Amino acid sequence: MNDSSKASGPGLIRKAANFGKAVVKHVADGGKHVTDEVYLARLSVCANCPSLDPQKLRCKERTCGCRLKTKARWRSESCPLQKWPAV
Ligand code: SF4
Repeated sequence: MNDSSKASGPGLIRKAANFGKAVVKHVADGGKHVTDEVYLARLSVCANCPSLDPQKLRCKERTCGCRLKTKARWRSESCPLQKWPAV
């Protein structure tokens, strides 16, 4: 990975693969969401994280690339850097 891809996050194919894995986990978890309190706590952590792409509201970590409005809502998801509070 070169510096420009680090700056913008994973490429389209990796993002699609990561999202596919996240969907499988979400379905296996019964499509459960976290509470509004947990959701807002997660987004608050992301808002202060250097891995946030603030324009696209995506996580730039290589194992993620997800839209955080979706990722933070799903109970089955976790922060790739273990920064989110425990559910
Ligand atoms: S999911 Fe984790 S690594 Fe990604 S932006 Fe949020 S706090 Fe940062």
